[in-house]
Amino acid sequence: MKEFACAQVVPGCDFKATAESDDEILQQVAAHAREAHGMDEVPAEVAEKVKAGIREV
Ligand SMILES: [Zn+2]
Repeated sequence: MKEFACAQVVPGCDFKATAESDDEILQQVAAHAREAHGMDEVPAEVAEKVKAGIREV
């Protein structure tokens, strides 16, 4: 599985996405960013940070 912790982009946020693929992680992060952080869309620079922060677990 792959995991991404939102705290790597938004310090203090305890959301973690876990999924089998980077694409699913990005989908979960996009939904979370919209609901929790008011981002209608994930900016490209944030998406890059997310991709860079995905870990194998
Ligand atoms: Zn968050």
